[in-house]
Amino acid sequence: MSLAVPPVENILSDLIRLRTANPPGGETVQAHYLKDLFSRFGVAGEIVEPEPGRGSFIASMGQGNRSLLFLSHSDVVPAADDWDFDPFGGEITGGYVRGRGAIDCKSLTACQIHAALQLVTTGRLGGRLILATTADEEMGGMLGVDYLVAHRPELLKADFVVNEGGAEPLELGGRTAYFIQVGEKGTAWSRLRSRGVSCHGSVPHLGDNAVARMAAAVVRIADYQPQTTLIPEVTTLISSLARLQGVPGEVTPETVDEVVEAFSGKAFVAYLKAISRMTLSPNAIHGGNKTNIVPDECQAEVDVRVLPGQDQDMVMRLVQKLAGEGIEVSLPNFQTPTFSPSESPHYKILRDTLVEVAGDVECLPCLSSGATDSRFLRRAGIPAYGVSVFAPGFDQSLRETMHGRNERIDIASLDLEAEFLVRLGSRYLSS
Ligand SMILES: [Zn+2]
Repeated sequence: MSLAVPPVENILSDLIRLRTANPPGGETVQAHYLKDLFSRFGVAGEIVEPEPGRGSFIASMGQGNRSLLFLSHSDVVPAADDWDFDPFGGEITGGYVRGRGAIDCKSLTACQIHAALQLVTTGRLGGRLILATTADEEMGGMLGVDYLVAHRPELLKADFVVNEGGAEPLELGGRTAYFIQVGEKGTAWSRLRSRGVSCHGSVPHLGDNAVARMAAAVVRIADYQPQTTLIPEVTTLISSLARLQGVPGEVTPETVDEVVEAFSGKAFVAYLKAISRMTLSPNAIHGGNKTNIVPDECQAEVDVRVLPGQDQDMVMRLVQKLAGEGIEVSLPNFQTPTFSPSESPHYKILRDTLVEVAGDVECLPCLSSGATDSRFLRRAGIPAYGVSVFAPGFDQSLRETMHGRNERIDIASLDLEAEFLVRLGSRYLSS
């Protein structure tokens, strides 16, 4: 007697009830759940636990020349106490599954599990499918994918990866656009330090005020308008969106802002601006501690995000120039942007499968202004793509519940994503 694969909404409900908020993490509890579930279907998985409680789960199924990795993260961000329901209740009601991780990204994990077990039980695996549910993504991935790539690379070796990313479908000019995430901007977090001379606040001309100098530097950085830089994927994306929306004109570095501002939705316009230039956002400043003391030191942190071709030297030179004299600049955290080709057989099979399940839709490559675990795999030479197959007509406001309150997802979207993954796995691994 063959075992029935649990419905995807039931798997998601179980996952939400396993508490894996990071910090502190505790992802091993989910790794054990997956190990038990897969073992019932005859699949032996492995738990890799670099620190107690911080386990990732990896299982390999089927055999053949081709290989595909289903990747998702098992940790979630913590939930505040202002929700209208229990964030860790995993309640299924009114066509929705509710709780922390329902969108980011236990939904994807549930769909990947469901699809993998479907492929196993129906014998549709002509190649190797790897499922990895990894820890610590929300705090940088050091104990998850970063650790696995460094210490157990053989576990994640695949022709390509399907991970979180992409975006909700967009209705434009009577068409629906879906997105496949092919790349991510890099981070170049910059630290500024000014030093001055301390003295009593009643005789300020005696000293040299480090806070005042930093304040001027921070204003220059905040006011700076970086030049627009269009990589080919972004030109394709914005041109295609403009065509669908009926916005005239060619997309060039000179015209891109005009085109982008013609779109509706503040968040959407901000996103398109973020992927068409370097961004610099001075987000923290610390200096001085008493009203009557002229401060001799001040520090500021600037969140700089870079596009391909913008390296550490370029950022250092720019930030130093904007900061001005008397301010030291360092880059304590530089992560290069990462990309996978949008002209590749892997991208094509993702796009064709997406169009097959979602209907007559546009499918466009997109770039993330943030970061996911895909960057570690791309750096290891494995192409990685982010796909979110929400159902057509997806309630856009649900996306805002991600990392926010009352996170939930519709079961129709879960079913569609699972269907997409089943077809993708069977199409790629059996061809
Ligand atoms: Zn996520």
